[in-house]
Order: sequence, then C-alpha cells, then structure tokens
Amino acid sequence: MARYRGPVCRLCRRENIKLFLKGDRCFSDKCSFDRRSFAPGQHGQRRMKHSDYGIQLREKQKVKRIYGLSEQQFKLTFKKADRKKGITGTNLLTNLELRLDNVVYRLGFTNSRTQGRHFVKHNHFTVNGTKVNIPSYIVSKDDVIEIKEKSRKIQTINDSLDAVVRRGLPKWLEIEKDQFKGFVKSLPEREDITMPIQEQLIVELYSK
Ligand code: SF4
Repeated sequence: MARYRGPVCRLCRRENIKLFLKGDRCFSDKCSFDRRSFAPGQHGQRRMKHSDYGIQLREKQKVKRIYGLSEQQFKLTFKKADRKKGITGTNLLTNLELRLDNVVYRLGFTNSRTQGRHFVKHNHFTVNGTKVNIPSYIVSKDDVIEIKEKSRKIQTINDSLDAVVRRGLPKWLEIEKDQFKGFVKSLPEREDITMPIQEQLIVELYSK
C-alpha cells in the first residue's frame, strides 16, 4: 500500500493524539487537533467502542503515521525487530528512531520527519563524511551526521535549527549547531521515546 498523501492533520484527529507531523504549526494555535480534537468525518464525534483487534490496529496505525512509513515498510521494520535479540516492541521503536530521516528531524536539521525524508533523498546530509540519500538508513552509535557544505544556507534548515530548542534534543543525540553537525552519542533506550506508544499492542497484532 502506498504512503498516505492526504491532509495530515486528519491523521492526528483519527488517532486522537497530536502526532506532530507539520513542524512548527503543531506548536502553534493553528494546530487542528487543538481546535477540533475529535475524529474526522460525519460520525467523528460519536463515542466509538473498539474491539481488542481495533485497539491493536489503531496503535499500529498511530506509530506508522508518526514515522511516516507505508504499510509494507512498517511490516518489514517489524520483521527485522522480531528477528533481533531482545524485546520485539522495544527493538521496533529503537529501529524507527534510528532511521536517518528521523535522526535529522530529531537533531533539528528539518522541522518534520516528512521533511527529513525529503531532504535526505535530495542529498543534503552525510554520515561519517559519506553521502547518504536513503531515508531508512539506520545510524549507529558514534555516527556523525552532517549538513553538506552547499546546503548550510538553506533557510528551512536554519529555521529548524533555531526551533530545536522548543522541541528538545533527545539525550542520545548531541549537536554542534555552529558546525552543522550531529552525533549519535548512544543508542536510544525505550524511555527516550516519549510519545505515548503501547508497542506491545503492535506485537500482539502481528502475532495473530
Ligand atoms: Fe497534528 Fe496539530 Fe501538527 Fe496538524 S498541526 S499535524 S493536527 S499536531
């Protein structure tokens, strides 16, 4: 199934949580969810009772939408997490966090993961000095992510760097703003992922 290309604020209302998909707008009073925090559509304001399957499905959709993955990409990420040693749910979330499009967003180089994916594809970053244009590239501990010389004047990147203070930098990352560089200090732990996610529900869904 292809990636969703419709209005993204609708997704927050569908999942009944702010997914922070639109950069600065999410922190402003223009946020649609803050103004209309009920599901979209004609029956959006009705109280819905979900089955166990429905609850698991919504949790999967929520995480998939936060990271902007297609159904197929998400399934593949889950399979990789399942094959890895350790707790599958935690592996899933840490693998998602370590994607390059997420890391450039977390470092404040872009103002959303969607923009992160876009900028990675357009060759604006290097990892350890090597050009990487694959959004799903998984970074490792001690990797150095840098904005390419010719991209440092891009206004959007500079605006995002200014806004990172508001979003906060996760403790597993470090940034040298003046040098346009970020570092992966350590691998993310479960408690570093602060969005309210119940990953166990996703594991249950895929175990059926
Ligand atoms: Fe969601 Fe609000 Fe951001 Fe729109 S502006 S994506 S509703 S958090």
